Amino acid sequence: MGHCKRRGYCCQDVRLAESPELLQKAYEYWIKSPKIDPKFSDIYLIYPMLIFKYENPSEDLPYHYRCKHFIHDENGIPACSIHPIRPRMCSGFPHYDDVEHLDTAGPLSPYEGCGYNDPD
Ligand code: SF4
Repeated sequence: MGHCKRRGYCCQDVRLAESPELLQKAYEYWIKSPKIDPKFSDIYLIYPMLIFKYENPSEDLPYHYRCKHFIHDENGIPACSIHPIRPRMCSGFPHYDDVEHLDTAGPLSPYEGCGYNDPD
């Protein structure tokens, strides 16, 4: 099983089932809530950090975004500017306790060239 090699594909192409409009509505709802449980949803965290790129309706996760926190470090290596506090969708990628991968025989990561798909 592979591991993260800091290639940055996932941060430059965040793929979600939620449209920008839905993310915005969820964000505006949750931001008004007096108590937000991050275990329930981190949509309120991720909406402000994403820039919508395009939609591909033929995909399971059709909405593609780029993250504003994606940077290159002083050595030119892809990095996360908020790494210690990055949301669960990032810290758990591509393993999520509460999500079963539909295709266990297929590549772990949907990103071609991702270190998680390397044989290691
Ligand atoms: S918050 Fe960090 S790890 Fe998550 S997509 Fe953005 S740059 Fe990548």
